[in-house]
Amino acid sequence: MKLSVNLPTKTYELLIEKGALDHVGSWVRKLWQPQKIVIITDETVNDLYGKKVKNAIQDEGFNVSVVTIKPGETSKNLEEAQKLYRYLAEKEMTRKDGIVILGGGVVGDLGGFVASTYMRGLHFLQIPTTLLAQVDSSIGGKTAVNTSVAKNLVGTFAQPDGVLIDPNTLLTLEKRRVREGLAEVVKSAAIADTELWALLDTLKDEDDALSFSEEIIYACCQIKGQVVEEDEKDTGIRLILNYGHTIGHAIEQTCGYGVVTHGEAVAIGMSQITKNAEKIGTMPKGIYQQLVSMLQKFHLPTHLDDWEAESLYKALIHDKKTQGNNIRIILLEGLGKAKIETIQIEDMKQYLKK
Ligand code: NAD
Repeated sequence: MKLSVNLPTKTYELLIEKGALDHVGSWVRKLWQPQKIVIITDETVNDLYGKKVKNAIQDEGFNVSVVTIKPGETSKNLEEAQKLYRYLAEKEMTRKDGIVILGGGVVGDLGGFVASTYMRGLHFLQIPTTLLAQVDSSIGGKTAVNTSVAKNLVGTFAQPDGVLIDPNTLLTLEKRRVREGLAEVVKSAAIADTELWALLDTLKDEDDALSFSEEIIYACCQIKGQVVEEDEKDTGIRLILNYGHTIGHAIEQTCGYGVVTHGEAVAIGMSQITKNAEKIGTMPKGIYQQLVSMLQKFHLPTHLDDWEAESLYKALIHDKKTQGNNIRIILLEGLGKAKIETIQIEDMKQYLKK
């Protein structure tokens, strides 16, 4: 399956296919002429897929080397970026050369940031290997690193030359990671796609979802691609992708990153805002129950036992979606249709009630 993302400055293609990694060499060859390539990946993904990707690209006549980072969010920082800049300089990479980013969202965000800033920007390709990266982070061109002040504080908008998605890579992914990717899938269906919702409705659990991974990933990429085409720089409609994320980010921040994963926090965030929106009357009744049943069958949490509304509110005040005394929140007009509402930050308290 193929999809293209058409932006004013660039058009690129997403290839979504089980087994696509078997053709990674010819895929790169179609996009780029032989030159130097650095593959940026993490140690875990390198052990699983590094050699295969390196050899396949090398066989097409490219001069390929691999650089790895330690897996996990703690690597997404400026120190790691510095190390990668040094590595690229040692390899004498120039703007004629290219970077292949292989891995989850951490490698994607950090690698994209480095690629887009080294020498003011090298060409790069994304090969996402987690469900979260395949349905979300590898599409849309947001790159970032965390700083001691905030997560994703420093970053760029930079689009890849292409994205290769092989859903078979999900077979080696930990169950908890598959589930958190499914939280973003449920979000995508809830905000924009009743057909995807209907497909998800027919599934038993996360294993069942993996048998439909191609269709599910395609649907999510289509939604994200369309939203990004309309609003590449995130000043308007792109905000709908944040359904459940405002409260979700506050949960991640107060519980500690990694204690509750991003996807789990989003699942709780969507449930929480929907439950209270139905009570307040800003969302039609009946969605909460459908949402909770959907999340629960994928073994995602829908509430926190220790709900600290006050700490969550404090964390929320610093959200990027705040504007003065106001905050923009994402609600649903119905399943499959999101709306953006601006409310006073103070009014967020009603959405944080346990
Ligand atoms: P991740 O990159 O840390 O990957 C999770 C773990 O899975 C890592 O330990 C990794 O080594 C391992 N892994 C990756 N692929 C694997 C595979 N196929 N088999 C086995 N193990 C595998 O985390 P993530 O959840 O993919 O991404 C989270 C990051 O994405 C966060 O930093 C978040 O901010 C970012 N993000 C960015 C955007 C964006 O638009 N740029 C959107 C959403 C999230």
